[in-house]
Amino acid sequence: MSESKLKYKRIILKVTGEIFAGAQKFGIDAQTVKAFAQEIKEVKEIGCEMALVIGGGNIFRGAVASEIGMDRASADTMGMLATVINSLALQDALEKLGVSTRVLSAIEMRQVAEPYIRRRATRHLEKGRVVIFAGGTGNPYFTTDTTASLRAMEIGAEVILKATKVEGVYDADPFKFEGATKFEELTYIEVLNRELKVMDSTAISLCMDHQLPIVVFNLMEKGNIKRVVAGEAIGTLVSAGKR
Ligand code: UDP
Repeated sequence: MSESKLKYKRIILKVTGEIFAGAQKFGIDAQTVKAFAQEIKEVKEIGCEMALVIGGGNIFRGAVASEIGMDRASADTMGMLATVINSLALQDALEKLGVSTRVLSAIEMRQVAEPYIRRRATRHLEKGRVVIFAGGTGNPYFTTDTTASLRAMEIGAEVILKATKVEGVYDADPFKFEGATKFEELTYIEVLNRELKVMDSTAISLCMDHQLPIVVFNLMEKGNIKRVVAGEAIGTLVSAGKR
């Protein structure tokens, strides 16, 4: 596949931390991260500029800790640090495959990652490096979904690819309801009004305000990232209008 055949030249890929846990419920499964890194490498090789936002839910979620009495802002800070751990795991897996990467952290920690500087991020992408955005937005009360939306605007990404374990967005949880049907396309407003689980409302609103399309797709099927980037109509497209 040549570069000119790509539908999206610059993308943000949002992966929830849960995926890093593999079959476990918690932590990092090395084989899963390795397989994911291999997929990223293949997409990189067809000339797509990739920035990644990794969640932290496999390690720590601020909202859960605040329910058991922790101060929410402190708990969220721990959540943001969890995303740094995941980002470093992915960086390691990618570099082992010979993919040049940079981790840019929204929370400064110079010994382990570069600080997030927008121009630096775009420069890395131009140079063909895979950029991993760690530390979320750097602010409590936000999520890594919102980080993906925000960074997508900042670096001029053409789309957000939201990786999940199912084929796209459904009208009910497909793991619980056999008859759940998948949407081919949705508008931002439909997602918000029907409270569909695509991304949180802050993240969706930001995309809506700036007309940034989101493709929700199944990461578990090998080659899917490449398919989306090439323009194959898989998953669910969330945008202002029709595909
Ligand atoms: N978080 C935060 N601000 C951000 C991004 C993340 O406070 O900008 C915290 C928040 O506590 C969240 C945790 O980091 O629960 C992990 O992120 P998220 O829940 O988005 O991860 P995912 O569900 O995608 O694994």
